[in-house]
Formats: sequence, structure tokens, C-alpha cells
Amino acid sequence: AAKKSRKQGAAGNGGSVSISAHRSSQVNDSVVRAVENDELTVYFQPIVSIVESRIWAFEALVRYTDPEIGPISPASLIEKAKRLGLLNQLTEQVILKSLRAARQFADIDSRVNCVTVNVEAKQILSSQLGPFLETLPELFPEVSLCLELNERSLSVVSDELRTQADHLRDLGIMIALDDYGSENSSVGALVRMPMDILKIDRSLIDDLGDIRQLEVLRALQGFGDTLDYALVVEGVESPVTALRLQSVGVRSAQGFYYGVPASYEATAKRLLMHGTLAVLPDAEPVEAP
Ligand code: C2E
Ligand code: MG
Ligand code: MG
Ligand code: MG
Repeated sequence: AAKKSRKQGAAGNGGSVSISAHRSSQVNDSVVRAVENDELTVYFQPIVSIVESRIWAFEALVRYTDPEIGPISPASLIEKAKRLGLLNQLTEQVILKSLRAARQFADIDSRVNCVTVNVEAKQILSSQLGPFLETLPELFPEVSLCLELNERSLSVVSDELRTQADHLRDLGIMIALDDYGSENSSVGALVRMPMDILKIDRSLIDDLGDIRQLEVLRALQGFGDTLDYALVVEGVESPVTALRLQSVGVRSAQGFYYGVPASYEATAKRLLMHGTLAVLPDAEPVEAP
């Protein structure tokens, strides 16, 4: 039912069908060009230890602004690339840019040597991306790559997927389960997916006054401590949220409070000026855009 209503929402543009169809084909052309010319940009958002108040990784997030049509959201970029059969190519570009950046970041401050990149779970099984991934640990021995697999593509964890995840982990590539706690989450994925990091979707922390939300996070952190994954709560926008998380034992977080996604240059500058400090001196709680 949820799927159906989303589809209706996308088509229900109240009469502007031809304009949106036109825009859609413009965006298609733009995405093809951007990928073919390797013109995508990657932004970086800190992942921090709340407890130690320091950055320990960055999540890489794709960005693209078309010179004529303006910014294209990551969601539509990914969706278009997928439909155009360009998702693996896009992913390879994002991963290479992210690892090169991570190498520079680690050079500035050796305490951050991990970068996470978003991929669809199925992609790790692809005969194009699989062999590419296998080459990376040798090419970038100084840094570690973590693949964030999102829940949308993980409702069923097949034996094949599990085996490949184990194989990649043996090679030194980490696996994260992204957006856990969003509408598509399954306990099965949590049980069956071999992983190093569990990322909690920000929708799960929309009301941290709610005892049930807090206790679920406490339990998920508890599983992490015994099953040996790091729990990262996404969407932390204020010091109050960070404190509440800490009060139930959550140790890592990501969100606007610690830093919005920023360009390579801005991120390198932050590291140069402030090191891995999680909260900058002038940080204000940030309003969601
Ligand atoms: P995600 O992987 O869950 O990434 C986190 C998203 O939450 C990012 O949105 C980030 O800007 C946003 N965010 C971070 N902290 C906060 C906060 O405190 N408050 C709020 N309101 N939002 C916050 P973004 O960059 O627009 O990316 C959206 C989604 O697009 C990502 O969700 C990810 O699923 C996908 N995506 C982004 N880059 C890539 C990519 O290179 N490949 C693939 N396959 N997907 C990507
Ligand atoms: Mg992610
Ligand atoms: Mg996420
Ligand atoms: Mg998300």
C-alpha cells in the first residue's frame, strides 16, 4: 500500500504533466552527461563518537548541480542512474573519489581513516561492481572503506548476499546496514546481515522524549556490544538529542549538530583547523532544511 501511494504521489502533479515530463528528460540527459564525464561531486559528513567527542569516519554523499537546471537531489540522481543502467558506473566514481579524499583526510589527521559509501545491496553481487570492490583494499591500504547498504534493498537477505558480504569483510571492506528503523526495516536483516556498523534512521529518533524509542536504542546498542557492530544514530541535530542518546548508552552519531555534508575542501579545512573535534566551538543546533 505504501508503494502504491508513493507512485500516485509522484504522478499526481496536478496538470503539469508535460512540464514535468520535459524536466524529467532534461534531468535524464544531465545525469547521463554527468556520469559519462565523471562530473559528480562527493560531500562528506562526519560520523562521531559522542562519548569521545571526536570524528572517526565520514559518510560520502553524492552531489550534482547541473549548470542549467540546478541541483539534482541524490534521490533522483540515484533513481535515474538506476533506470539508465548507470548506477554501477556512478557508484565506482563515488567510491574512488571518496577513497582518494579519505586518503587526504587521513594524511591531515591519521585518526580519521574510514569513509562510508552508499550502495544498493544488490550491487555488491554485480559482476561489474564485485570485482572492482575486490581491487580496492590493495589500492588504498591506508584507509578503510565501509559500504552502507540501505534497508530498501535489504528486506530479504539471501544466502548469496550474505556470502558476498562475508567475502568483502574478509578482504577488509566493512559493511553497514543503513536506515535501520525506517519503514522498510526487518529484524531478519539485522539477524542475517553480517555487519560492522548499524545505522539508525533519523525517523526513529523524532521524539526522544519517548521512552520506547530510547529503550529500543538501548537494546540495539546492547546487541551491537555483543554482536560486535558499532551503532550510529543518524539525524542528530541538537546537544539535547546527543545527551539523551548518551544516557541510554549510544556511543556514535551523525547529524547536522556535528556537521552538515560539506565539500572536500571544506572538510579538509575543518580537519586542519579543528582536528577530529566533533562539535565545533560555534556550533548551533541546526534547523532541518
Ligand atoms: P542516507 O545514506 O541515509 O544519508 C543521510 C541523509 O541524511 C543525507 O541526505 C544527509 O544530508 C541527511 N542528514 C544528515 N544529517 C541530518 C540531520 O541531522 N537532519 C536531517 N534532516 N538530515 C540529515 P542526502 O545527502 O540528501 O542523501 C539522501 C540519500 O540518498 C542517502 O540517505 C542515501 O540513501 C542516498 N545517497 C546519497 N549519496 C548516494 C550515493 O553515492 N549512492 C547511493 N546509492 N545513494 C546515495
Ligand atoms: Mg547512508
Ligand atoms: Mg541513512
Ligand atoms: Mg536515509
